[in-house]
Amino acid sequence: MKNCDICERDDFSLIATRIREGEGRIVRCNNCGLVMQEADWDSKRLKEYYEIEYQLSNSLVTGKEQSAQEHFNDRIRTIRSVFEKVYPLLDPESRVLEIGCGAGELLSLISPHVSKCVGVEMNSSFVEFIRSNLSIEAYAEDINKLSLEGGFDLIICIATLDHLPNPLETLITMKKLLAPSGKIYIEVPNLDEALNRFLPKGNSERYKEFFWHRAHLFYFDRDTIEALFKKAGFLCDVSCRHEYTLKNFMHWYYLGKPQTDFVTGVTGNEFFSGETQFETRMNGIFNEMESVFKKIMAETFSGDNLCCVGHLDPDRQ
Ligand SMILES: [Zn+2]
Repeated sequence: MKNCDICERDDFSLIATRIREGEGRIVRCNNCGLVMQEADWDSKRLKEYYEIEYQLSNSLVTGKEQSAQEHFNDRIRTIRSVFEKVYPLLDPESRVLEIGCGAGELLSLISPHVSKCVGVEMNSSFVEFIRSNLSIEAYAEDINKLSLEGGFDLIICIATLDHLPNPLETLITMKKLLAPSGKIYIEVPNLDEALNRFLPKGNSERYKEFFWHRAHLFYFDRDTIEALFKKAGFLCDVSCRHEYTLKNFMHWYYLGKPQTDFVTGVTGNEFFSGETQFETRMNGIFNEMESVFKKIMAETFSGDNLCCVGHLDPDRQ
């Protein structure tokens, strides 16, 4: 196994042997705390996985391989919370690159506000969709192998850096592609999210097994993502947001299992169909609680995503 990506030591403890898909090995660096999956992924394997397997095993609608259009339609319903974090970083003159852009959902929202958008995504059917339906420049290639003209004012990478076997190399690639005053906006799952810490025993174990995931090669907390940024030559501000609903949290808390799929987990916060006054008013309670819940999750860094705005460290250039 390779050495730790942050501190370069070779001193790990095995912390889990069961992952969502069955057997797996999750280790933690005893020196810096970085958590990673022991897995042997090269560029070819990565390409094959995201071209074929990922869309079967990780569709937004469980058990259904979605077309690019279907993926786009579902993800666009939930991407607005990401767009709200990105929007303050946009300028009409900005050149924006998104790495791991899916079917272009976020870029489609960004595009009207900037001068140029470019997307990079492993899945070539998604890239075809982006080119033909969104008229946005896009490439189906590993960002570390692609020769792109640099000078981007903003580079975005959502729920992707933790999927890559070489996150440090990818951050350094971003550095090369960034304009001197440019910024990067990165989101990764939060290892310290509330679901990982505050479920009753038993259900907590079941959540952890679900949390460790074949596709997620690295698991960051606030300290380790900051350390990785620093190593790549970036200073960063980290904030937190929570994508899943309070209902999803309660589902895990009481039942110890996931909801049917991603879209249900992030959009359906109501408990009743709402046909009677009782149901409508009860749903009202949950709608009111939802925004308070999201605020608590963000402010206590217990949400499911860490949101990092990075810029080049002037002392490291
Ligand atoms: Zn380490």
